[in-house]
Amino acid sequence: MSTIMNKNTTIIPRPQHCISRSLLSPNGLKVLYKLKENGYTAYLVGGGVRDLLLGREPKDFDIATNATPGELKKLFRNCRLIGRRFRLAHLHFQDEIIEVATFRSAAEPAPEEEPEPQHEPEHVEREGRRHHHHGPRMLKSDEGVVLRDNVFGTPEEDAFRRDFTVNALFYNIADFSIIDHVGGMEDLKAGVIRTIGDPATRFTEDPVRMIRAVRFAAMLGFTIEEETRKAIVEMAPAINRATPPRLFEEVLKLLLLGAGESTYQLLRHIGLFEPLFPHFDAWLTRESEGFPHARVGKALEWIDARIDEGEVVSPALLIALMFGEYLEERNQYFRDEGAPPQQATEMAVAQFAGELATTVLIPNRVLVAVREILGSQYRFQKTPGRNAPGFVGRRVFPDALRYLGFMEELNPPKRSLHEYWKSYASGVIMKAPHDAEEGAAPQKKKRRRRRRRKPTRMPEGP
Ligand code: ATP
Ligand code: MG
Repeated sequence: MSTIMNKNTTIIPRPQHCISRSLLSPNGLKVLYKLKENGYTAYLVGGGVRDLLLGREPKDFDIATNATPGELKKLFRNCRLIGRRFRLAHLHFQDEIIEVATFRSAAEPAPEEEPEPQHEPEHVEREGRRHHHHGPRMLKSDEGVVLRDNVFGTPEEDAFRRDFTVNALFYNIADFSIIDHVGGMEDLKAGVIRTIGDPATRFTEDPVRMIRAVRFAAMLGFTIEEETRKAIVEMAPAINRATPPRLFEEVLKLLLLGAGESTYQLLRHIGLFEPLFPHFDAWLTRESEGFPHARVGKALEWIDARIDEGEVVSPALLIALMFGEYLEERNQYFRDEGAPPQQATEMAVAQFAGELATTVLIPNRVLVAVREILGSQYRFQKTPGRNAPGFVGRRVFPDALRYLGFMEELNPPKRSLHEYWKSYASGVIMKAPHDAEEGAAPQKKKRRRRRRRKPTRMPEGP
């Protein structure tokens, strides 16, 4: 245990909290025990502890230990070390990766996802992709960020370098207690997102934490503590110091949480939306005088409903729906200028992507799909038109059809093209009868699932 023990550290013994071993993934539990049996300290950390305490199913199980990466490599045969400067161990199991990190000291942003390197401005952070490491790790040196190299720390230091109090609780496998160095338990009970330490300092170290605050507040239904909130309002424009590729990833996570609509409102209120989407925000504001742009909110509500039904919403569909009206307006402009439909769509999407490239960089593959979703809307008007089976078989078809479905929900037509294509597609592709009420052909067809960072595991029963 740490040598300098914070006098505010609280230990919550097993009978006083709800985390039981049966709630952990069997692999996670095995790793914790193996570390302990070999004389190491081993804690379950981060979102896993937070979610279990809240009775939610954790997305992943992260472990922190005083074993060094080298020692982990010797101890676990299924171990791969990733990351250059701060090496993390990934323990590979059949359907799960358990991430094990050696306790680290402060002054260092968490190991995160490394953005695609080609677009990074000079003041790049070294935050990168959590699970994939290609390209060199970068050092962030300016604007108040101090870096120390590969300094392992005490458990307490490791707690203090984390972002929010509720994310810094440790579950100790040695006695099944919860160790709370930062007052996280109290904030968890009160439903509060609070930075550890001075919010302005913590947001300077890593501006993405501002978005994370919004994400956790929206995801958990928590409120952002007042000082933390004020700091975000003040520092929101600094969000752009994070790299555009990383911001794209963060924005996706944020809006595809299932609470996209309320997240969007919160982002706008707190002032983060404007620096992320300056042109779009200006457009929203301009139009909101007299004629509010209700479609963005409605699109996000629609997406939330789909996620609630267990559907996977692709990044391209999110972008297409969220910015649909904006893109269609552009599109119309180019058409008025005489561009043919497909070309107008291409130009609209390209211009939109160009505007965003310095803030939120949308990867090319996503842009291609957005363009195809929008372009397909013309194609739907021919029923069935030439080579309809080919059209229906295209990878973009399900998303294009869902876009059409949303549009028809917004303005119900006399004759539904969505119905037409839905049944046409089920005839062509499924070649099987389907329930006319529930017959959600597009959902049943093969869709590429969004890549999951780690497979989720259902907790085993007691
Ligand atoms: P999720 O449920 O979305 O996975 P999480 O809390 O587990 O939420 P991760 O991004 O998986 O979030 O990170 C795991 C832990 O690492 C966090 O709980 C937090 O303690 C720490 N962490 C992650 N990102 C940062 C950051 N930018 N700054 C400080 N600590 C961070
Ligand atoms: Mg996590």
